[in-house]
Amino acid sequence: MITKKIRRKFENKLYESLSREEGKIAFRLRSQHAATRSYLSRFYGEDPNCIYCGQTETLAHLIIHCVRTECYRTDIRRFMREHRIKLCEELLGGALTEEQSVESINLVCEFLRLIDRKRTL
Ligand SMILES: [Zn+2]
Repeated sequence: MITKKIRRKFENKLYESLSREEGKIAFRLRSQHAATRSYLSRFYGEDPNCIYCGQTETLAHLIIHCVRTECYRTDIRRFMREHRIKLCEELLGGALTEEQSVESINLVCEFLRLIDRKRTL
């Protein structure tokens, strides 16, 4: 059983490995509060759809599914295959070990940098 204390120790270790900016992004991603278009549409009435493909822009769409950014997703796809990850929630935390979580968050941050969304989430 994972207690709050163990969870907090794990979270601290995870965030220590990241820059301040990446830590902020990781926190928003892991808490499902990243500023995707669908998230913003709930508060500001923005169009919830992806500007590239027209699908609803959720975190899963942005990180795993959008066809427009597939070419930048090679390392994320490899990581998901190696760890048999199917869902975005698993990629962003789920049941990964500490080391896997650090690698996963770093891969996602790099992906977001490549698609120029790192500063807008
Ligand atoms: Zn899209």
